[in-house]
Amino acid sequence: MKIVLLCGGVGGSKLALGLYSEFPDADFSIIVNTADDLEILGLHISPDLDTVTYTLAALSNPDTGWGLAGDSFHALAMLASYGHDGWFQLGDRDLATHLTRTHLLRSGMSLSEATGRIVRSLGVRASILPMCDEKVSTRVRTAGGWLAFQEYFVKRRHADKPIAVTHDGVESASVGPAVRDALLAADRVVVAPSNPVVSIGPIMALPGMLEILRSRRERTVAVSPIVGGQAVSGPAGELMKSQGFQASAAGVAAMYASFIEALIIDKADRDLASTIEGMDVRPEVTDTIMPDLASKKRVARFAVEATRR
Ligand code: GDP
Repeated sequence: MKIVLLCGGVGGSKLALGLYSEFPDADFSIIVNTADDLEILGLHISPDLDTVTYTLAALSNPDTGWGLAGDSFHALAMLASYGHDGWFQLGDRDLATHLTRTHLLRSGMSLSEATGRIVRSLGVRASILPMCDEKVSTRVRTAGGWLAFQEYFVKRRHADKPIAVTHDGVESASVGPAVRDALLAADRVVVAPSNPVVSIGPIMALPGMLEILRSRRERTVAVSPIVGGQAVSGPAGELMKSQGFQASAAGVAAMYASFIEALIIDKADRDLASTIEGMDVRPEVTDTIMPDLASKKRVARFAVEATRR
């Protein structure tokens, strides 16, 4: 079975791990948002790619969902003595990944090639594919002006009300052959419960991507990241409202209706089922909160079985 997951970082990697563990024999490709990528001290940092990779490699920090378990921060402390403002946490072992990626990119590899090298080195059997090789940068407009995504999300802890969102550079980015081929060959396409605006949004915004996704609609399901009218964590609800959508599972259905056949919603949202059906999306109801491996595997199986055979 060929499974493709569209994914952001911490929320998406929960389902990524569920699929990876529940379907160990599947041909599994994960298309990951890179519009959160940033450069710090000359290093190319890809937070969502790293979160997914570390999670599948069983190296991730279980307390945060990002970073490496048991990492230390001595380099960041030393950098602080040189005046570096360390608002973006970079662990010592994590830095090795950023150094490697940056080195591989500077030696001429594409982001896809560098990612493949890192993923294989960590023994991960899935294909982890950056959504594109070009630079795309999400920015969020707040009352105080435009903020780079990580400034909004990490530095200011998404405390500002978002008014608008843009993915700079996306119009000149392109869907790479590995991403296209994986989607066109997939038996199942699953959209992770990732932030619809800033994790799945940039993937949807790639030129030609919606056409590819729509051609796979009969095989595509999504899991709602909004449960009981709010995001399980993070600013997804506020960001959806900034785009004119309701912060609800019905809002998620409205954003994805053109390319998903079914939406998996939480039992807390069963009242929204008929509204979602009205958008020609089949609601499938289950518990969607994934605190442990058993729940991740259960939601993964539910998602795969929810797609039409
Ligand atoms: P980020 O890039 O690190 O912000 O991660 P994602 O975009 O992949 O995921 C963020 C989304 O995951 C948030 O909108 C959360 O509501 C959602 N999320 C986190 N944990 C869960 C969970 O256990 N179940 C569901 N349904 N959604 C979750």
